[in-house]
Amino acid sequence: MIGVLGGTFDPVHHGHLRFALEAVEALRLRSLKLVPARVPPHRPGPAATPEERLAMLQAAVAGTPALEVDGRELVRPGPSYTVDTLASLRAEHPHEALCLCLGADAFRALDTWHRWREIPALAHLAVARRPGGRLPARGPVAELLQQARVDGPEGLAGRLAGGVVLVDLPRLEVSATRIRALLAAGRDPRWLLPDPVLEIIRERGLYLARN
Ligand code: ATP
Repeated sequence: MIGVLGGTFDPVHHGHLRFALEAVEALRLRSLKLVPARVPPHRPGPAATPEERLAMLQAAVAGTPALEVDGRELVRPGPSYTVDTLASLRAEHPHEALCLCLGADAFRALDTWHRWREIPALAHLAVARRPGGRLPARGPVAELLQQARVDGPEGLAGRLAGGVVLVDLPRLEVSATRIRALLAAGRDPRWLLPDPVLEIIRERGLYLARN
């Protein structure tokens, strides 16, 4: 099974990487693809270019074969839709299960995603639950959960897509927003993200305060 973790990764940090590695272990993934999205133009704050975000991701996963960086959304014109990404992965891997990893917050809003009904036909969903985190109780996403939920990763075996599994994955108190804020304030974000990523940020002068 191949895992997929989307995000802006602006920049990638230890919260993403621990989450990814623990998803590989908990779901027994052959590999997990980190898929950076094109940043919507209305997103606030200084943002690195797609090429810079890709370079930081590659530096972050170097030496960890289970984690791969997949830049397909950066080269695809137009908005980055998860459904398109999963469809192109499905075409490349017709006989292997796919599993989209996402937080409970994102899962709750799944019915706002472009062509969301097609997603369970393309991949399993692994929903990371946080202690006290809420799952949808009513509405179309709650119905999907009721119909597709399996008890554990074993419940996904033998199918290429369509299951929903809840997993306990850690969520470190790190966000890219905080790292950008520290850098913009001239402070040191070390130990929130891998050193090789911080080196790229420093070399290229990323996330400095705008004049
Ligand atoms: P920003 O602060 O810029 O909004 P972010 O740090 O939340 O960014 P994203 O690139 O938006 O990072 O996140 C990509 C994916 O990683 C999302 O599914 C998000 O839920 C998850 N994620 C982000 N931060 C963490 C964390 N600290 N622990 C676990 N997962 C995380």
